[in-house]
Amino acid sequence: MSDELFEYAPAPESRSVVRIEDSYGLFIDGEFVSAKQTFPTIDPATEEVLAEVSEAGAEEVDLAVDAARTAFERVWGPMPGRERAKYLYRIARIIQERSRELAVLESIDNGKPIRETRDFDLPQVAAHFFHYAGWADKLEHAGYGTTPIGVAGQIIPWNFPLLMLAWKIAPALACGNTVVLKPAETTPLTALAFAEICRQADLPPGVVNIVTGGPETGRLLVEHPGVDKIAFTGSTEVGRRIARAVAGTGKRLGLELGGKGANIVFDDAPLDQAVEGVVNSIFFNQGQVCCAGSRLLVQESVAEELLTRLKERMATLRVGDPLDKNTDVGAINSAVQLATIGELVASGEAEGAERWSLECELPERGFWFAPTIFTGVAQSHRVAREEIFGPVLSVLTFRTPAEAVEKANNTPYGLSAGVWTEKGSRILSMAQKLRAGVVWANTFNQFDPASPFGGYKESGFGREGGRHGLEAYLAR
Ligand code: NAD
Repeated sequence: MSDELFEYAPAPESRSVVRIEDSYGLFIDGEFVSAKQTFPTIDPATEEVLAEVSEAGAEEVDLAVDAARTAFERVWGPMPGRERAKYLYRIARIIQERSRELAVLESIDNGKPIRETRDFDLPQVAAHFFHYAGWADKLEHAGYGTTPIGVAGQIIPWNFPLLMLAWKIAPALACGNTVVLKPAETTPLTALAFAEICRQADLPPGVVNIVTGGPETGRLLVEHPGVDKIAFTGSTEVGRRIARAVAGTGKRLGLELGGKGANIVFDDAPLDQAVEGVVNSIFFNQGQVCCAGSRLLVQESVAEELLTRLKERMATLRVGDPLDKNTDVGAINSAVQLATIGELVASGEAEGAERWSLECELPERGFWFAPTIFTGVAQSHRVAREEIFGPVLSVLTFRTPAEAVEKANNTPYGLSAGVWTEKGSRILSMAQKLRAGVVWANTFNQFDPASPFGGYKESGFGREGGRHGLEAYLAR
């Protein structure tokens, strides 16, 4: 429909369903405690300062680990699984009850569209707590023993703040561990809202502790001698640093790191569905997804047709206010991330790939990047090799299935892949050959708490989700 006939009417979600405090303390031993240092958290769509948040230093990390240790030894570790389950079910129900508020808060602090926080993040968060609540009294049937590890230090990134918290906290608690969790410095607010939920659920003090702060707080947690396990989700570079710090200490370690997923479209694929899948694989959450299909491998005979349809579909994407229910692509999470995307896109142009960006009006303030595709990409280009973590797709072509496998696996990462074809036998044979933790067939970015998720190679090790996710939190 042309613009003359149709005047756009925004459908903004209300900000009034959330109350953001001027400042926040750390959540230690069931209480909110202020630290000496604070840092601001901002709304990436407006650059407005939302709140001052406490930065945990050595003293506060000590307090949090001590509280977790005491709670583990005296209360949570000895508690029967069926009792722990009651708390987890209660938390899951409160999350459902408060999901509108949490979705709005996540969109404001992270920049992701309300449609995604409302329809993806929050339902998944609640589902994870329900799933692991169900395991708490059935651990002996999972095959990994029933003995918890102890105190888990958990460090998470900013792309799915509350969902990454759920992936970490739900299985840890179900198995009888206590936790000290550090959210990312740009997205602390939903973790602090979760702290309130722990109080609302009467969770015993010290079972969950939240220490906000940046890399230094993370380092203090990783190196703390009172922590029995480190669970980290974030960049491969920081993951390497953490692996070095933990080596030889006897601490258990789980790493969920970056990715450079290949979405492979064969010439027999239903092209319109494949286009939807490609859009979902790279523009969902502004492409800030570890398992994003950031490399499109398309069979040469349908490449032109697919790209034409993809551009037509991209022209309908609405970029802008994350709280508008019509928005498809929201704000990039931070100025730093925006600069990283800009630098990699510039490298793509300099190396000779052809750039096409959606023409759209971007808000004046805030951090924005128009959905972009690169064609004529060679394997050696940085845009084909490095994780961009933004709404940028690199398109490569192939002629044979063998070439598709070779190109897809030609990456240091191994987290995700997609295969689009009408042949079931081809799906199975591709899935066996692709070195990726998850392979989606004729779909992309599907998640379920019952299904394990994790990587090969530089995408990390260990699995989160499902029965397999319990292994990371049990000492056998
Ligand atoms: P990041 O590695 O910069 O930061 C992640 C977390 O680690 C943050 O909380 C940060 O404060 C903390 N941190 C930074 N330096 C640290 C240090 N030296 N010691 C301890 N903690 C430290 O990553 P990011 O930019 O926040 O997140 C994006 C990355 O996360 C991407 O590479 C993405 O692929 C990855 N990711 C992976 C998964 C997965 O399941 N595999 C899921 C989501 C995101």
